[in-house]
Amino acid sequence: MGMACSSARRSSPSMRRIMSEWKQVQADGLAMGEGRSSSKGNSSETFRLKPVGNMFEWHFTFLGAKDSPFEGGLYHGSISLPENYPQSGPSVRLLNTNMRFKVGSRICLSASEYHQETWQPSWTVASLVSALVAHMTEAAVEIGAVRGATPSQKRKAAVKSRSFVCAACGCCHHAFPEDRFPIPKGFDKGKKAGAGDDGSAGARREGRVAVGVGEAPAAASRGGLTGRSRLSWTVRLVTSKPFLLALALIIASVFLNQPRHS
Ligand SMILES: [Zn+2]
Repeated sequence: MGMACSSARRSSPSMRRIMSEWKQVQADGLAMGEGRSSSKGNSSETFRLKPVGNMFEWHFTFLGAKDSPFEGGLYHGSISLPENYPQSGPSVRLLNTNMRFKVGSRICLSASEYHQETWQPSWTVASLVSALVAHMTEAAVEIGAVRGATPSQKRKAAVKSRSFVCAACGCCHHAFPEDRFPIPKGFDKGKKAGAGDDGSAGARREGRVAVGVGEAPAAASRGGLTGRSRLSWTVRLVTSKPFLLALALIIASVFLNQPRHS
């Protein structure tokens, strides 16, 4: 912390306000943990934040929303507070890949009440992060938005976002306990998801096999290697040439043996 700088600001109304916000963030269990096990945040909210060095610079981390292409992602960003905070609104940036907002570019939530022109001193840094989290899953129309990103691009970015480490604050992996952001089903196996599609198409032709294919992904997603290998074995069997040839022969013989009604 720069003493010369912060001592001049320490008694300012801005600094008093920021300190009181930080106390509230800690009391609410929203403080971003410093180390692996010191993540004391106990709030069910999906975001955490903390000042970084200077109290006028905050970093935050939030989880990608469930049942969205961002699920499993761990997004990190910064908020810069102006000298006259809270009379003017902060500026917000995301610092890692996300395919929703341009990395490092100032985000202008023009579709929201948090737009600079309509910023009100009663809003807080935490409420701003909360608004950003909500905007993540809405249409990309703001200044600083990435337009036209496909769900697939967002999912790829979500995978990538998990390995990001912030040079300034050391985040993100320690922001949440790991069970708060489990890898969603079919998250990091694009090719295998395609194979599963083939498998279920094959399974529709053969009811008995469909049970095996249907059960296996659940086991695989729990990390069971046996479940995963059983799935790929079943898929390989169903799509193999001898299997399909035999299936075709069975269907043909059943068809040919049917009595003709003429
Ligand atoms: Zn950071």
